[in-house]
Amino acid sequence: MNIHEFQAKQLLLSINLPVPKGFIYNKNHNIESLLISNKEKKWVVKSQIHAGGRGAGHFLGFEKSGGGVRLLDNLEDVKKTADFMLGKKLITKQTGPLGKEVNLVYIEESTSIKKEYYISLIIDRRVSKIMLIASQSGGMEIEEVALREPNKIFNFYFDNLDEIKKNELEKLSQNLFFTGNQTVQFSNIIEKLLKLFKDFDASSIEINPLVIDNNNNLILLDAKMSFDDNALYRNPDILKLKDDSEEDPLELQASKKQMNYIKLDGSIGCMVNGAGLAMATMDIIKFFGSEPANFLDLGGTANKERAKEGFKIIQSDPKVRSILVNIFGGIIHCDMIAEGIIDATKELNLKLPIIVRFQGTKAKEGKDMINNSNLNIIAAESLNDAAKKSVEASL
Ligand code: ADP
Ligand code: MG
Repeated sequence: MNIHEFQAKQLLLSINLPVPKGFIYNKNHNIESLLISNKEKKWVVKSQIHAGGRGAGHFLGFEKSGGGVRLLDNLEDVKKTADFMLGKKLITKQTGPLGKEVNLVYIEESTSIKKEYYISLIIDRRVSKIMLIASQSGGMEIEEVALREPNKIFNFYFDNLDEIKKNELEKLSQNLFFTGNQTVQFSNIIEKLLKLFKDFDASSIEINPLVIDNNNNLILLDAKMSFDDNALYRNPDILKLKDDSEEDPLELQASKKQMNYIKLDGSIGCMVNGAGLAMATMDIIKFFGSEPANFLDLGGTANKERAKEGFKIIQSDPKVRSILVNIFGGIIHCDMIAEGIIDATKELNLKLPIIVRFQGTKAKEGKDMINNSNLNIIAAESLNDAAKKSVEASL
C-alpha cells in the first residue's frame, strides 16, 4: 500500500526528522495566516498523487502550464495554483498516459537548496536484507542516474536492524561526502528511517531529494513510502492512511472480498485458486501466444460465492474476450466451483466464452455439471487443452 507525500511527512515529523512545515490546502482556509510565518516568503505547491516525477509532469489538457510541484513567491499565486491543480489529471512518467486526478494539494514552505541527494531503503529479496541505496545525484529519478552515472550510486546492506553500528553509518555518510555535523544528522536520519521501516513493515521508503539547505542542515524534501499489504492488519495507524481513490477500483473490490486481483493488459481473464497456479496459468496463456487480462487468486478457501464475485470482477474489464477457469481441487471441491460458475453465468448473463479446467477433488462431478448445463462453457481435458481453447476463443 502506498501513502501520499504529506502523510509520509507526518510520519517523519512524528519521529522528529526535519521536513518543511506544510498543510493540506482547503479553499475555505485563510491561507495567509498559515503562510505568513515563512521568512523566505516562498512556498511550494505540491499535487498529492501516488506517483513520482510530479515536478517534471504536466496536467492533461494543459501541456504548457507547468508541473505538479511549483515554487511560488506570492500568496495569490499559491492560492491560484492550488485551485488550478485540484481536480485536474496530472501525467508523470509513472502515471501512464491518462494521468491521475489530483484530489489533494499540499502547500509547504520553500527550503533553500545547496545540494540534492537521493536515499532509499528497500528489501532485497535475493538476500533477505534491507538495502540502502544512496546517491549524490538527487532530485532526478534514480533509474536515470543508474543509466547516466552508475558510479554515483552505492548500495549498503544492513545485517542486523537491532544493532546498527555507528561506524557503519559514518562510513555511509563519508560516501556521500558529508562531514562534521552533517554526518551526525545523516546517521540520525538513517537510524530513524530504519526503525520506521521495521516498526511499520514498510516495503520501501524513498527520500528524493534529501537536501542540504543554506544553513548546512539536512532536510527531507520529498518522501514516498510503501507498506506490506500483508502486514497492515498489525499496523492500524498505517491502514488509516489508505486512500481508496488511488487504488484500482477492481483491485479494491477484490480485496474487500479477500481475493487477490491484479489487472493486466491482455484479453484472457483468469480465475484460479492459489497464487502459484495463477502464475502457471498466466505463463501457459503466454506460451500459446496470448496475454492474460488479470491475475486472480480466489484463495485457498474459495467457494461458490467467491467464484461468482470473481466473474463479476473479470467481466467488468472490457478487454476480456474469454475466461479461463483453472481450479485444483484440494480442500475445495470442483463441483462446488462448477455450481458457482453456472449460477454466475446465468445471473450475470455472461456471454463471454468460458473454458474450465478441473483437476483433483470432485473434478469429474464438476465437469459433468458443466457439460450438462447447456451453457456456453467448455470443460477442457487438460491445462494445455484449456489454455489453447481460451486463446482460440479470444481471437
Ligand atoms: P517529485 O519527485 O514527484 O517530482 P518532489 O517533492 O521531489 O516531487 O519535488 C520536485 C522538486 O521540487 C524537488 O526535487 C525539489 O528540487 C523541489 N522541491 C520540492 N519541495 C520543495 C521545497 N519544500 N522547497 C524547495 N524546493 C522543493
Ligand atoms: Mg521527488
